[in-house]
Amino acid sequence: MSDFPGTARVVIIGGGAVGASALYHLAKAGWTDCVLLEKNELTAGSTWHAAGNVPTFSASWSIMNMQRYSTELYRKLGKEVDYPMNYHVTGSVRLSHSKERMQEFERAAGMGRYQGMALDICSVDDLKDHYPFLETHDLSGGLYDPNDGDIDPAQLTQALAKGARDLGCKIFRFTPAIGIQREKDEWIVRTEKGEIRCEYVVNAAGYYAQRVAEWFKPFGGRTLPMMVMSHQYLLSEEIPEIEAWNKEVGHKLPLLRDVDSSYYLRQEKYGLNLGPYENTCKAAWLTEGDPMPEDFSFQLYPDDLDRIEWHIEDAMARVPLLGKAGISKVINGPIPYTPDGNPLIGPMPGVPNAFEACVFTFGIAQGGGAGKVLAEWLTEGQTEWDMWSCDPRRFTDYTDQDYCNQKGMEVYGNEYAMHFPYHEWPAGRDKKISSIHKKVVELGGVMGAYNGWERANWFAKPGDNTSLESTHTWNRNGPWEKRIKEECEAVRDKCGVLSLPGFARFILKGDGASEFLRGFCTGGLPKIGRMNLIYVSDKRGRILSEMSCIRLEEDSFILITAATAQWHDRELINRVIPDGILFEDITKTQDTLIITGPKSRDVLSKISQANLSSGWLTHQSAIIAGKSVYLLRVSFAGELGWEIHASNEDMPIIYQSVLDNGAVPFGMYALNSLRLEKGYRGWKGDLSTDYSMFEGGLDRFVKLDKPQDFIGKAALLNEKQQGSNKKFVTLLVNSEQFDAPYMSTIWKDGNIVGETTSGGWGYRVNASIALGMIKTELAFEQSTVEVEIYGKKYNAVVQKD
Ligand SMILES: Cc1cc2nc3c(=O)[nH]c(=O)nc-3n(C[C@H](O)[C@H](O)[C@H](O)COP(=O)(O)OP(=O)(O)OC[C@H]3O[C@@H](n4cnc5c(N)ncnc54)[C@H](O)[C@@H]3O)c2cc1C
Repeated sequence: MSDFPGTARVVIIGGGAVGASALYHLAKAGWTDCVLLEKNELTAGSTWHAAGNVPTFSASWSIMNMQRYSTELYRKLGKEVDYPMNYHVTGSVRLSHSKERMQEFERAAGMGRYQGMALDICSVDDLKDHYPFLETHDLSGGLYDPNDGDIDPAQLTQALAKGARDLGCKIFRFTPAIGIQREKDEWIVRTEKGEIRCEYVVNAAGYYAQRVAEWFKPFGGRTLPMMVMSHQYLLSEEIPEIEAWNKEVGHKLPLLRDVDSSYYLRQEKYGLNLGPYENTCKAAWLTEGDPMPEDFSFQLYPDDLDRIEWHIEDAMARVPLLGKAGISKVINGPIPYTPDGNPLIGPMPGVPNAFEACVFTFGIAQGGGAGKVLAEWLTEGQTEWDMWSCDPRRFTDYTDQDYCNQKGMEVYGNEYAMHFPYHEWPAGRDKKISSIHKKVVELGGVMGAYNGWERANWFAKPGDNTSLESTHTWNRNGPWEKRIKEECEAVRDKCGVLSLPGFARFILKGDGASEFLRGFCTGGLPKIGRMNLIYVSDKRGRILSEMSCIRLEEDSFILITAATAQWHDRELINRVIPDGILFEDITKTQDTLIITGPKSRDVLSKISQANLSSGWLTHQSAIIAGKSVYLLRVSFAGELGWEIHASNEDMPIIYQSVLDNGAVPFGMYALNSLRLEKGYRGWKGDLSTDYSMFEGGLDRFVKLDKPQDFIGKAALLNEKQQGSNKKFVTLLVNSEQFDAPYMSTIWKDGNIVGETTSGGWGYRVNASIALGMIKTELAFEQSTVEVEIYGKKYNAVVQKD
């Protein structure tokens, strides 16, 4: 083919809604030398058979951002690129069967309001007004979203493709990518029509993404964490009553979601489209005997209505009109799932200049926003919104296929479930356990998973209710509350011990290591024998990473970061570290205990000769219970304390001796409460790329006068001169039962003035605490605001800095 290009700046593999959106957004950003390869016709993957629902609702701030952006784009896209577009903004109603569900709606409505969307809480009567054909006797209310609707997925993809082509990008259909190579700093993407040399490659291959990812393994890649579910919807025959109603009122029925019964029901022409997310779900292509076919373009699975019989009956009881019509068509197609149900958008872990925009469960609703995010990753190396919820690096080496399968099915079967704050999902557990795991469980540990590592959230006593059902509440009050209080009090009055496996840790050493770090982080380095926190910012001076930096020698360091940050921070350093400096991930060989509280020195002195009078932020080698350890004089709990770092083999003896000498085990929930009281920030809640270093109150970790030109310095210099718009604060919130979830709105005199980044009960101060960001002019001690929690506003007072 004569016009087949030998080079391009970017090659996107996959021409579904997402690949086309990525191409369109790259073109809009001025990167027009980009090529999209599609093995069949555009839309041949999941896109062609999607129902096309485009909700904005999400329990996640960043996903809501992405979906909101999609709706804004889809409204104007047809006109902008001159392509016909069937986009019906019908609005939607979500039904609630419980007070907990109403609280979830209140929370989403609050986030939506903050993002400029008028999501509306409905009474049962309001629901009837929106949707007259509804049975409402067992409902407690609902949520109306005026921005919801449906779009023709094929038209959407074609419109995005046209927009990209018009700006100069190229699309090659019936041109599968068949492999890749790397030469110097270039990728070579192979096709049967020829090779394309390019700077960047994007895997947008939908449910084929794992297959494409295999090609990247020789260049540092991993098995892509995903599986495929079979999802079906059925279309009813036309229903005369719906046609008559449409004609009478002049618009379609809103989309209906009975989330507690787990299905959507949408008007399609004058009939209905029913799509359940059934608990009795079916994964596809799971076994060796049932492999994914080489090509499944424009194909479907056989109908399987038995699986969704309950939902069909439930929907017919809810909207009896549905029962009057026969079924005209069933669509049963593949949807890819990651282990948490969010897509992969961003840098491909371990591989230079390769990106992912794949494994979308709601790729039509999210496609618009995803294209924007992906294009930003490529053109700017950072994104406008913090997109950790979709970052491929959030999954590390624990996501084997069995885990992906279990989690994918769990997410699918609970697609509309509420995500309660004290609930841990049960599938795919025990992926990484410490050498003292058994002991922690014996002590009553009620476990949670952190980057695959099992840690105790709290310690139950005999008779405590540890059932999953007990966690189905937004209320802080549950069987755990009494125990968390006791654990916090033990840390406040005596000595507590927390097992913290999975802390990500790296060795960094060699000539030039300190100079490298100075240019890498925003602040200063500790002196030899000491440690401190270092931060990395992005080009806009926003908070990218936080690490504990332990200095052993002039050019020898250990860096410790959050368990979930392991691959993120490893990549951050790997991509810029000069040759000759050793950088090694030793996360798996070592384990950590936090021993903290006023009596922790007494406990340690009984089992160690270590220098326990050395000051805050010092470190030393020591022997505890006859075992070599590394002791750091810090405590995230805000009391006298040490971190004990030791090898996995030695930890059982050390843990036992700490317990034998009076330390009380405490869990992650207590730690969270203790750190909130001290205003200590957590990564990717309080510390994210949604905020600059100065907004985050991290001024003392920024050295603008150092000679090194660290990333973000220019932006931070500018912000220093102009002043920051927002400021980090700790708030005491006057709420009795509920603590502020992430991204709760902060109000002052009827105006939105900020948002919370985390919240919880402080058992030492006996008050609800929220950390968050508010307008700088309100960020002073005793300043009064209101925090909206599940729809209710509570008075709150800013605490001393
Ligand atoms: C029944 C059903 C209903 C759904 N309803 C909705 C809905 O209402 N709303 C919603 O948001 N989502 C819905 N979805 C999900 C939605 O279909 C997907 O999330 C979305 O289509 C994913 O788009 P994509 O571009 O990521 O992937 P795909 O559409 O699968 O595109 C990937 C493309 O990559 C191509 N490709 C693969 N390998 C190669 C290669 N080596 N070289 C070149 N090309 C390659 C494939 O041919 C394919 O065209 C539904 C899914 C199903 C099954």
